[in-house]
Amino acid sequence: MTDDFLVSDHRTLTLGHLYPDQLNLYGDRGNILTLQRRCQLRAIELRVVGIGIGDTLVPDEYDMVFIGGGQDREQAPVAQDVYDLKGSGLRAAVEDDMPLLAVCGGYQLLAHYYRPAEGPDMRGLGIFDAWTTHKGARVPRCIGDVAISWQGSTLVGFENHGGRTYLGTAQPLGKVLKGHGNNAEDHTEGAVYRNAYGTYLHGSLLPKNPHFADHLIRLALQRKYGTCSRTSTNVNLTTANASASNGVTSLVTAPQEAAMLLCSLDDTLEWEAHAALLERLGLHDAAAAVLRTRTKPVSAFQS
Ligand code: GLN
Repeated sequence: MTDDFLVSDHRTLTLGHLYPDQLNLYGDRGNILTLQRRCQLRAIELRVVGIGIGDTLVPDEYDMVFIGGGQDREQAPVAQDVYDLKGSGLRAAVEDDMPLLAVCGGYQLLAHYYRPAEGPDMRGLGIFDAWTTHKGARVPRCIGDVAISWQGSTLVGFENHGGRTYLGTAQPLGKVLKGHGNNAEDHTEGAVYRNAYGTYLHGSLLPKNPHFADHLIRLALQRKYGTCSRTSTNVNLTTANASASNGVTSLVTAPQEAAMLLCSLDDTLEWEAHAALLERLGLHDAAAAVLRTRTKPVSAFQS
């Protein structure tokens, strides 16, 4: 698909990576690498800025934010810092529809609280109306491959958490098809509030879920640049719906316009990895559907 709109404009996005030295479990940095590569292949410059303990967070400096997972001992100092120094900025950015991805421990700290197996509760930011309680050392952790439903498709990953998260008004990211999810009880996984996404899916998540990676990139582009669509004479800014809040226009765009923001990539390898995990979980029909609809037949590569 050749898209001659936008590609002539040099587009930049800035991603704030929260606590890269503390919350970096199970390859979560692979999410950053995936976003960088998928932007680079579309001539979008993705600048990644680490935001550590003691750093202030100026929300207007970022187009998206990522926070990874960590053991309880790493979460405790982070919890105090994120509440004291980053909380108000992150809440304002989320209310302004900035896309945010929070994985496991990071997800827990953006809900109301995390009650670890030992020690005091860790206060969260309350971005997600949810809360987490560890069931104690004698209760088996939620560990293993996981697959959930998401927007008519699937997301796959790996989970390893002792905390059980329960949702208040926050919507789940998806329904658990295989694995534990939020709490191994109500078949929910993750949480969504505006463009903020919390999930227990490590893996890392985005390399095997290119559609979710592109969803986050698209949200950031829409929020920063709006959407442009080709017309007979020139490129013009069209919005299906726009509402101004605090002087910032948030855009709701027609799906086809939003889809046009990013040219498609050959994700055959990514989807084969996605399908392999579905197969491993016994979701054979879902795996076959992915291979049928998301990968190119070998003949497509034969010259
Ligand atoms: N320490 C938290 C728990 O065990 C989060 C773990 C993680 O980030 N993988 O629930």
